[in-house]
Amino acid sequence: MRAIGKRIAAIAGGLLFFFVIGSIYQPYLKAISMAMSADRPRPYPMPKKLAAGMVKVDDWFVVARIDDRTFAIGEPRYGQCNFAYLMIGRDRALLWDSGPGDRDISRVVAQLTTLPVTAMPSHLHFDHVGGLRYFRDVALPDVAGLRARAKNGKLKLRRFEFLGLIENRKSPVLRVTRWISKDAEIDLGGRKLRVLGAPGHTDNSLVLLDEASGNMFTGDSIYPGYVAAFLPGADLHAFRASAARMAMFAKPGAGLFGGHGCIGVEQGLGIPRLPASDWKHLERALDQALKPQPTILLPRTLPLREDLILEAKAPWMSK
Ligand SMILES: [Zn+2]
Repeated sequence: MRAIGKRIAAIAGGLLFFFVIGSIYQPYLKAISMAMSADRPRPYPMPKKLAAGMVKVDDWFVVARIDDRTFAIGEPRYGQCNFAYLMIGRDRALLWDSGPGDRDISRVVAQLTTLPVTAMPSHLHFDHVGGLRYFRDVALPDVAGLRARAKNGKLKLRRFEFLGLIENRKSPVLRVTRWISKDAEIDLGGRKLRVLGAPGHTDNSLVLLDEASGNMFTGDSIYPGYVAAFLPGADLHAFRASAARMAMFAKPGAGLFGGHGCIGVEQGLGIPRLPASDWKHLERALDQALKPQPTILLPRTLPLREDLILEAKAPWMSK
């Protein structure tokens, strides 16, 4: 009897050990499990309906004008419907995000401006940095120790920083020509942009503020759809603080232009835009996500609205 009792205790202890270790590394296990079935997603067909103002550039890209000096460039045939944004000044232009890089986004940019272009990603995930290789001038943020890791103007991205493993993509070496410090101002000539540090989705996430219009270009920090706060490197505490800080910059009436636009495509593909007040909603959802709740189902889904859903890891595995 004693031997059986000991055996049961050993099995229970083993299971508990694996459960605890598995939970701690859950974001990584999630990424690895996604990687095991990974393949490049097959391109979707071009959406049948485009919203007013959205035009097809070719069989891959779509473009829409936000204002006289700002364009949204979408890749709706790519599974995550990435959107990049081209900001044009008097002297130069900035491309915010660059898509997964499956097609050459610089050719679209060249149709919209003849000015010299700097490309800069909102964060370092594969679906935002893939197109940087088509540009000679690439800016990265001087945050999270990135600059110290670069050698001779080159930065090798880490596996879980790039996350391309979930689509069977190899971590690239990025060529960097400029380092932009957090909260720095970029002057494109008669047009000022501010690069705001917004850690949370990743520790190097940024939001770009167009100072004149108050519009914010938010990458994956907020966009219509499933906002991910469960992947490796995500930090719920930092995310909540960033949402609160971004809300202070948000002008009423201005838009938050996000990095993905898959939601509502059936009704017509439009620019992924949310109201500035959604930073406050996100902050509240993150508040909720940080409250301990008994659940083994992770990531936890916190719907804010039909078009805005937070997917969060457990607070104790934040980071
Ligand atoms: Zn993304």
